[in-house]
Amino acid sequence: MLEVNQLTRWYGKFKAVDSVNFSIGKGEIVGLLGHNGAGKTTIMKMLSGFLEPNAGSIKINQIDITSNLKQIQQQIGYLPENLPVYPEMSVADYLDYAAQLKGLNRQQKQQELKRAIKATELAPKLLDPIATLSRGYKQRVGVAQAILGRPSLLILDEPTNGLDPTQTEHMRELIREIAKEATVILSTHIMQEVDALCDRAIIIRQGQLAVDAKLDELRQSRSLNLATSLSL
Ligand code: ATP
Repeated sequence: MLEVNQLTRWYGKFKAVDSVNFSIGKGEIVGLLGHNGAGKTTIMKMLSGFLEPNAGSIKINQIDITSNLKQIQQQIGYLPENLPVYPEMSVADYLDYAAQLKGLNRQQKQQELKRAIKATELAPKLLDPIATLSRGYKQRVGVAQAILGRPSLLILDEPTNGLDPTQTEHMRELIREIAKEATVILSTHIMQEVDALCDRAIIIRQGQLAVDAKLDELRQSRSLNLATSLSL
């Protein structure tokens, strides 16, 4: 359902993402692994349409996202590395605003808000200003806005980054639940995260694809040594 071909992005003279190719089938959970600065966020931003590639293409269900972003945006849910939230806004107001941005009509909006709030167990926090939430709850708000409108592809940039072990386990449970209805690509620099959640791992090193393997293969093969040597 997702096809990435020769994806490339420069920042000035620095090539942050270099001719990356991969494809993801419907219903897969794929982990994008790499050290800090490897290029994961740049890839995630391009997949979600926030950043244009300098070369290459991204297709979702065979439709090119760069030239058809408006048409395809509703199919993509994106949890950015840092949620661009308004700290004084309450959780309820923020999610309402996010639902409007997704172009949901009034009836869809009510249904989708209800569903997202239930899935993320945010009901007790709805009136709280976002600034007062723990990192775990902030991430849940991020996931709630990402799943509004039932996108078929979810792009989660470091969803458990900064969470304590309990919050991490909760977030992983949530990701497993939402992956029952959507294809998921998540980034992380922790191999265990991929091990706990993913069917496949794509390892990015210095902007290039180093490994693309099913978890079973990765565990058995020398790629595991590669992952270990990368401390992933
Ligand atoms: P992290 O885990 O730290 O988020 P990452 O794998 O997501 O890292 P990116 O954020 O995609 O990596 O960054 C890839 C490279 O591009 C890094 O060397 C980073 O310094 C550089 N970079 C990212 N954004 C910009 C920018 N706006 N301008 C210039 N260089 C950038």
